[in-house]
Amino acid sequence: MDDRYSGKNVVITGGSSGIGLATAKLLADAGARVVITGRSQATLDAAREQLGERARAVRGDVASLPDLDALAADVRDELGTVDALFVNAGITGTTPLASTTEEMYDKSFDINVKGAFFTVQKLAPLLSTGAGVVLTTSVANVIGMRDISVYAAGKAALRSMARSFSRELLPRGIRVNAISPGPVDTGILESALGKEAADRFKEVQVAENPMRRMGTPEEVARAVAFLAFDATFSTGTELVVDGGVTQL
Ligand code: NAD
Repeated sequence: MDDRYSGKNVVITGGSSGIGLATAKLLADAGARVVITGRSQATLDAAREQLGERARAVRGDVASLPDLDALAADVRDELGTVDALFVNAGITGTTPLASTTEEMYDKSFDINVKGAFFTVQKLAPLLSTGAGVVLTTSVANVIGMRDISVYAAGKAALRSMARSFSRELLPRGIRVNAISPGPVDTGILESALGKEAADRFKEVQVAENPMRRMGTPEEVARAVAFLAFDATFSTGTELVVDGGVTQL
Protein backbone atom coordinates (compact mmCIF):
# COMPACT_ATOMS: atom_id res chain seq x y z
CA MET A 1 0.00 0.00 0.00
CA ASP A 2 1.19 3.52 -0.82
CA ASP A 3 1.67 5.42 2.43
CA ARG A 4 3.73 8.30 1.04
CA TYR A 5 1.58 10.92 2.76
CA SER A 6 1.04 9.08 6.02
CA GLY A 7 1.07 11.50 8.97
CA LYS A 8 0.31 14.49 6.71
CA ASN A 9 -2.74 16.71 7.31
CA VAL A 10 -4.42 18.32 4.32
CA VAL A 11 -7.26 20.83 3.89
CA ILE A 12 -9.00 21.14 0.51
CA THR A 13 -11.71 23.76 -0.08
CA GLY A 14 -14.38 22.71 -2.56
CA GLY A 15 -13.16 19.15 -2.07
CA SER A 16 -16.41 17.31 -2.69
CA SER A 17 -16.22 17.23 -6.50
CA GLY A 18 -13.96 17.56 -9.53
CA ILE A 19 -10.30 18.44 -9.06
CA GLY A 20 -10.64 18.89 -5.28
CA LEU A 21 -12.18 15.45 -4.81
CA ALA A 22 -9.59 13.77 -7.07
CA THR A 23 -6.82 15.41 -5.03
CA ALA A 24 -8.45 14.36 -1.75
CA LYS A 25 -8.65 10.80 -3.04
CA LEU A 26 -5.05 10.67 -4.20
CA LEU A 27 -3.76 12.02 -0.86
CA ALA A 28 -6.11 10.00 1.41
CA ASP A 29 -5.30 6.79 -0.53
CA ALA A 30 -1.61 7.48 0.19
CA GLY A 31 -2.16 7.91 3.93
CA ALA A 32 -2.97 11.61 4.48
CA ARG A 33 -5.76 12.85 6.74
CA VAL A 34 -7.87 15.12 4.58
CA VAL A 35 -10.48 17.74 5.47
CA ILE A 36 -12.74 18.69 2.56
CA THR A 37 -15.15 21.61 2.52
CA GLY A 38 -18.17 22.53 0.42
CA ARG A 39 -21.59 24.09 0.70
CA SER A 40 -23.87 21.11 0.15
CA GLN A 41 -24.08 18.60 3.01
CA ALA A 42 -25.41 15.88 0.70
CA THR A 43 -22.48 16.24 -1.75
CA LEU A 44 -20.02 16.37 1.13
CA ASP A 45 -21.50 13.21 2.67
CA ALA A 46 -21.23 11.36 -0.66
CA ALA A 47 -17.60 12.47 -1.07
CA ARG A 48 -16.74 11.56 2.50
CA GLU A 49 -18.22 8.09 1.93
CA GLN A 50 -16.07 7.67 -1.19
CA LEU A 51 -12.89 8.86 0.55
CA GLY A 52 -13.11 6.64 3.60
CA GLU A 53 -12.16 7.08 7.21
CA ARG A 54 -9.15 9.36 6.70
CA ALA A 55 -11.44 12.09 5.38
CA ARG A 56 -13.48 14.62 7.29
CA ALA A 57 -16.09 16.90 5.72
CA VAL A 58 -16.81 20.39 7.02
CA ARG A 59 -19.70 22.32 5.50
CA GLY A 60 -19.00 25.98 4.75
CA ASP A 61 -19.04 28.76 2.19
CA VAL A 62 -15.57 30.18 1.42
CA ALA A 63 -17.14 33.61 0.84
CA SER A 64 -18.30 33.69 4.47
CA LEU A 65 -15.71 34.73 7.05
CA PRO A 66 -17.66 33.17 9.97
CA ASP A 67 -17.68 29.86 8.03
CA LEU A 68 -13.91 30.14 7.51
CA ASP A 69 -13.44 30.83 11.23
CA ALA A 70 -15.49 27.74 11.99
CA LEU A 71 -13.40 25.71 9.52
CA ALA A 72 -10.15 26.89 11.14
CA ALA A 73 -11.49 26.01 14.61
CA ASP A 74 -12.55 22.55 13.45
CA VAL A 75 -9.20 21.89 11.77
CA ARG A 76 -7.30 23.10 14.83
CA ASP A 77 -9.34 20.80 17.11
CA GLU A 78 -9.31 17.76 14.86
CA LEU A 79 -5.93 17.90 13.08
CA GLY A 80 -3.90 20.42 15.07
CA THR A 81 -1.64 21.47 12.21
CA VAL A 82 -1.89 21.53 8.41
CA ASP A 83 0.85 20.32 6.05
CA ALA A 84 -0.93 21.12 2.78
CA LEU A 85 -3.67 23.63 2.02
CA PHE A 86 -5.32 23.36 -1.40
CA VAL A 87 -7.35 26.52 -2.10
CA ASN A 88 -9.53 25.02 -4.80
CA ALA A 89 -13.14 26.18 -4.32
CA GLY A 90 -14.27 28.29 -7.24
CA ILE A 91 -17.02 29.03 -9.72
CA THR A 92 -16.99 30.05 -13.34
CA GLY A 93 -19.63 31.81 -15.42
CA THR A 94 -20.22 33.84 -18.54
CA THR A 95 -19.72 37.56 -17.97
CA PRO A 96 -19.79 39.48 -21.28
CA LEU A 97 -18.64 43.06 -20.87
CA ALA A 98 -21.96 44.46 -22.09
CA SER A 99 -24.38 42.46 -19.94
CA THR A 100 -22.61 41.55 -16.70
CA THR A 101 -24.37 42.83 -13.60
CA GLU A 102 -22.82 44.06 -10.38
CA GLU A 103 -24.27 41.00 -8.67
CA MET A 104 -22.52 38.60 -11.08
CA TYR A 105 -19.25 40.48 -10.67
CA ASP A 106 -19.47 40.48 -6.86
CA LYS A 107 -20.38 36.79 -6.66
CA SER A 108 -17.38 35.76 -8.76
CA PHE A 109 -14.92 37.91 -6.79
CA ASP A 110 -16.48 37.00 -3.42
CA ILE A 111 -15.97 33.28 -3.98
CA ASN A 112 -12.90 33.12 -6.21
CA VAL A 113 -10.81 35.98 -4.78
CA LYS A 114 -12.06 37.04 -1.34
CA GLY A 115 -12.74 33.40 -0.50
CA ALA A 116 -9.20 32.38 -1.41
CA PHE A 117 -7.56 35.30 0.40
CA PHE A 118 -9.39 34.68 3.68
CA THR A 119 -9.03 30.90 3.45
CA VAL A 120 -5.27 31.41 3.51
CA GLN A 121 -5.49 34.10 6.21
CA LYS A 122 -7.61 31.96 8.55
CA LEU A 123 -5.65 28.73 8.07
CA ALA A 124 -2.14 30.23 7.93
CA PRO A 125 -1.67 30.10 11.73
CA LEU A 126 -2.14 26.31 11.58
CA LEU A 127 0.35 25.67 8.77
CA SER A 128 3.39 23.63 9.84
CA THR A 129 6.99 24.47 8.99
CA GLY A 130 7.62 23.22 5.44
CA ALA A 131 3.90 23.25 4.58
CA GLY A 132 2.73 23.81 1.00
CA VAL A 133 -0.14 26.05 -0.04
CA VAL A 134 -1.58 25.63 -3.54
CA LEU A 135 -3.87 28.30 -5.03
CA THR A 136 -5.99 27.41 -8.06
CA THR A 137 -5.62 29.75 -11.01
CA SER A 138 -6.51 29.01 -14.64
CA VAL A 139 -5.12 29.30 -18.15
CA ALA A 140 -7.65 32.12 -18.45
CA ASN A 141 -4.98 34.17 -16.60
CA VAL A 142 -2.93 34.44 -19.74
CA ILE A 143 -5.34 33.91 -22.64
CA GLY A 144 -7.80 36.58 -23.67
CA MET A 145 -10.85 34.31 -23.77
CA ARG A 146 -14.28 35.57 -24.77
CA ASP A 147 -16.94 36.38 -22.15
CA ILE A 148 -15.06 35.38 -18.98
CA SER A 149 -13.19 38.56 -18.10
CA VAL A 150 -14.44 38.58 -14.50
CA TYR A 151 -13.39 34.98 -13.83
CA ALA A 152 -10.07 35.52 -15.63
CA ALA A 153 -9.30 38.68 -13.64
CA GLY A 154 -10.07 36.89 -10.38
CA LYS A 155 -7.73 34.07 -11.28
CA ALA A 156 -5.02 36.58 -12.25
CA ALA A 157 -5.44 38.07 -8.77
CA LEU A 158 -4.72 34.65 -7.28
CA ARG A 159 -1.65 34.31 -9.50
CA SER A 160 -0.42 37.52 -7.94
CA MET A 161 -1.31 36.46 -4.40
CA ALA A 162 0.75 33.28 -4.83
CA ARG A 163 3.81 35.52 -5.17
CA SER A 164 2.92 37.90 -2.33
CA PHE A 165 1.88 35.15 0.10
CA SER A 166 5.12 33.31 -0.72
CA ARG A 167 7.10 36.31 0.44
CA GLU A 168 5.05 36.73 3.62
CA LEU A 169 5.11 33.05 4.62
CA LEU A 170 8.71 32.34 3.61
CA PRO A 171 10.08 33.16 7.09
CA ARG A 172 7.97 30.29 8.45
CA GLY A 173 9.31 27.87 5.80
CA ILE A 174 5.94 27.72 4.04
CA ARG A 175 5.81 27.56 0.22
CA VAL A 176 2.93 28.99 -1.82
CA ASN A 177 2.42 28.01 -5.45
CA ALA A 178 -0.40 28.05 -7.99
CA ILE A 179 -1.86 25.28 -10.12
CA SER A 180 -3.22 26.45 -13.45
CA PRO A 181 -5.53 23.92 -15.08
CA GLY A 182 -6.50 24.09 -18.73
CA PRO A 183 -9.82 22.53 -19.74
CA VAL A 184 -10.57 19.70 -17.31
CA ASP A 185 -13.67 17.57 -17.51
CA THR A 186 -15.48 18.27 -14.24
CA GLY A 187 -19.02 19.47 -13.58
CA ILE A 188 -17.98 23.14 -13.35
CA LEU A 189 -19.05 24.03 -16.90
CA GLU A 190 -22.42 22.30 -16.61
CA SER A 191 -23.09 24.16 -13.33
CA ALA A 192 -22.26 27.49 -14.94
CA LEU A 193 -23.61 27.13 -18.48
CA GLY A 194 -26.10 24.25 -18.53
CA LYS A 195 -25.45 20.99 -20.37
CA GLU A 196 -25.92 22.09 -23.98
CA ALA A 197 -23.68 25.16 -23.82
CA ALA A 198 -21.13 23.22 -21.75
CA ASP A 199 -20.99 20.50 -24.44
CA ARG A 200 -20.45 23.11 -27.18
CA PHE A 201 -17.72 24.83 -25.12
CA LYS A 202 -15.98 21.50 -24.52
CA GLU A 203 -16.03 20.67 -28.24
CA VAL A 204 -14.20 23.91 -28.99
CA GLN A 205 -11.71 23.32 -26.15
CA VAL A 206 -10.90 19.83 -27.45
CA ALA A 207 -10.52 21.07 -31.05
CA GLU A 208 -8.17 23.88 -29.98
CA ASN A 209 -6.04 21.82 -27.58
CA PRO A 210 -2.72 20.48 -28.92
CA MET A 211 -3.50 17.12 -27.27
CA ARG A 212 -7.03 17.12 -28.76
CA ARG A 213 -8.63 16.27 -25.44
CA MET A 214 -9.57 17.70 -22.06
CA GLY A 215 -7.56 16.89 -18.96
CA THR A 216 -8.78 14.67 -16.14
CA PRO A 217 -9.13 15.73 -12.50
CA GLU A 218 -6.59 13.03 -11.61
CA GLU A 219 -3.96 14.61 -13.87
CA VAL A 220 -4.37 17.92 -12.03
CA ALA A 221 -4.40 16.14 -8.65
CA ARG A 222 -0.93 14.66 -9.30
CA ALA A 223 0.43 18.13 -10.06
CA VAL A 224 -1.18 19.55 -6.89
CA ALA A 225 0.40 16.81 -4.76
CA PHE A 226 3.76 17.61 -6.36
CA LEU A 227 3.45 21.33 -5.57
CA ALA A 228 2.15 20.72 -2.05
CA PHE A 229 4.73 18.18 -0.95
CA ASP A 230 7.55 17.53 -3.40
CA ALA A 231 8.37 20.93 -4.94
CA THR A 232 10.58 21.87 -1.99
CA PHE A 233 12.63 24.47 -3.92
CA SER A 234 9.64 26.15 -5.57
CA THR A 235 7.64 29.03 -4.20
CA GLY A 236 5.63 31.77 -5.88
CA THR A 237 5.44 29.78 -9.11
CA GLU A 238 2.56 28.52 -11.25
CA LEU A 239 2.41 25.01 -12.70
CA VAL A 240 0.32 24.81 -15.87
CA VAL A 241 -1.55 21.55 -16.60
CA ASP A 242 -3.25 22.28 -19.90
CA GLY A 243 -2.27 19.87 -22.68
CA GLY A 244 0.04 22.57 -24.00
CA VAL A 245 -2.65 25.07 -24.97
CA THR A 246 -0.86 28.07 -23.48
CA GLN A 247 2.57 26.96 -24.69
CA LEU A 248 2.35 25.49 -28.21
P1 NAD B 1 -16.11 21.75 -9.49
O1 NAD B 1 -17.33 22.57 -9.69
O2 NAD B 1 -16.26 20.27 -9.47
O3 NAD B 1 -15.33 22.17 -8.16
C1 NAD B 1 -15.47 23.41 -7.53
C2 NAD B 1 -15.80 23.14 -6.10
O4 NAD B 1 -15.85 24.37 -5.38
C3 NAD B 1 -17.17 22.46 -5.97
O5 NAD B 1 -17.05 21.38 -5.07
C4 NAD B 1 -18.04 23.57 -5.41
O6 NAD B 1 -19.10 23.08 -4.63
C5 NAD B 1 -17.01 24.35 -4.59
N1 NAD B 1 -17.45 25.71 -4.30
C6 NAD B 1 -17.93 26.62 -5.17
N2 NAD B 1 -18.26 27.74 -4.52
C7 NAD B 1 -18.00 27.52 -3.20
C8 NAD B 1 -18.13 28.29 -2.03
N3 NAD B 1 -18.65 29.52 -2.07
N4 NAD B 1 -17.75 27.75 -0.85
C9 NAD B 1 -17.25 26.50 -0.80
N5 NAD B 1 -17.10 25.71 -1.88
C10 NAD B 1 -17.47 26.22 -3.06
O7 NAD B 1 -15.10 22.18 -10.63
P2 NAD B 1 -13.52 21.98 -10.79
O8 NAD B 1 -13.29 22.06 -12.25
O9 NAD B 1 -13.02 20.80 -10.04
O10 NAD B 1 -12.95 23.35 -10.16
C11 NAD B 1 -11.98 23.40 -9.15
C12 NAD B 1 -11.13 24.65 -9.33
O11 NAD B 1 -10.39 24.54 -10.56
C13 NAD B 1 -11.93 25.95 -9.43
O12 NAD B 1 -11.27 26.96 -8.68
C14 NAD B 1 -11.88 26.28 -10.92
O13 NAD B 1 -12.00 27.66 -11.17
C15 NAD B 1 -10.52 25.74 -11.28
N6 NAD B 1 -10.35 25.48 -12.71
C16 NAD B 1 -11.08 24.52 -13.33
C17 NAD B 1 -10.89 24.32 -14.69
C18 NAD B 1 -11.69 23.27 -15.45
O14 NAD B 1 -11.62 23.25 -16.67
N7 NAD B 1 -12.42 22.38 -14.80
C19 NAD B 1 -9.95 25.07 -15.41
C20 NAD B 1 -9.21 26.04 -14.73
C21 NAD B 1 -9.42 26.24 -13.37
